[in-house]
Amino acid sequence: MVKRLFHELTGRLSRITDDPRFEAEVIFQTVFGRDWRLKELSGRLAEPSAAELEALEKLAKRRLSGEPLQYIVGEWEFYGLTLKVAEGALIPRQDTESLVDVSLGLIEEIPRPRILDLCSGTGCIALAIKSRRPDAEVTALELYPEAYEILRENCRRYGGVEPLRADALKPQTAEGFSGLDLITANPPYLTAGDMNELQRELKFEPKTALFGGEDGLDFYRAISKVWRRSLREGGYIALEIGAAQKEAVSAILKSSGWREIRVENDLAGKPRVAIGRK
Ligand code: GLN
Repeated sequence: MVKRLFHELTGRLSRITDDPRFEAEVIFQTVFGRDWRLKELSGRLAEPSAAELEALEKLAKRRLSGEPLQYIVGEWEFYGLTLKVAEGALIPRQDTESLVDVSLGLIEEIPRPRILDLCSGTGCIALAIKSRRPDAEVTALELYPEAYEILRENCRRYGGVEPLRADALKPQTAEGFSGLDLITANPPYLTAGDMNELQRELKFEPKTALFGGEDGLDFYRAISKVWRRSLREGGYIALEIGAAQKEAVSAILKSSGWREIRVENDLAGKPRVAIGRK
């Protein structure tokens, strides 16, 4: 019975995704437990309950309406951590793991580094860094109340990262920090044009986490100016960027006085992380 339902769901999902088997698997694990295949084999799922069948249909309908799988499941993996995800915050993406890799490299030689993550959303970057550098002092900043609740919950889940509700674009916020070793951010960076042709799933994510102003660069202009004073001399900034923003963001960093500017690619070979040094 359950096997048949699995194939049915895979068929329905193939209309909206390139990886229907994977998505059906994730939905099945959510409804019947991670070990659903084992349970099936041993006959324990011979007769799913009405509640289970109802839950399955509900999740299937949500996904078929275009809602991202991550929001439906409510949790997603990032850098080996399982984080709460929900509509109020951007879904952690694999591309962003490159920012974590770069950040860990920048602080490798620094004992007890002090790190601030701006526009933190789920807190994925801050928590991933902390997970590899337990000695680091990490603060995660988020402005929007819904996202902040998700951030708080993830910080509670893993511990060691201080969530703070504040506006990263306000100079007054930056005045509260000094002597930092590293500032990270994955700010909103989509352009007005990008926003007009958003893929269906992205429409479920908060605009405030995606839209970076007409040319997508508003946050880079503001952050590179506002936060420089909060780093120690020799401290770093590491920012996720859109694949087409390498030159523009490098120029912005240069004009606000950063040195040793470089851009690292993600695993797909696209420019993804802009780095500057104070
Ligand atoms: N990387 C995201 C996307 O292209 C955008 C995230 C962001 O604006 N920071 O969907």
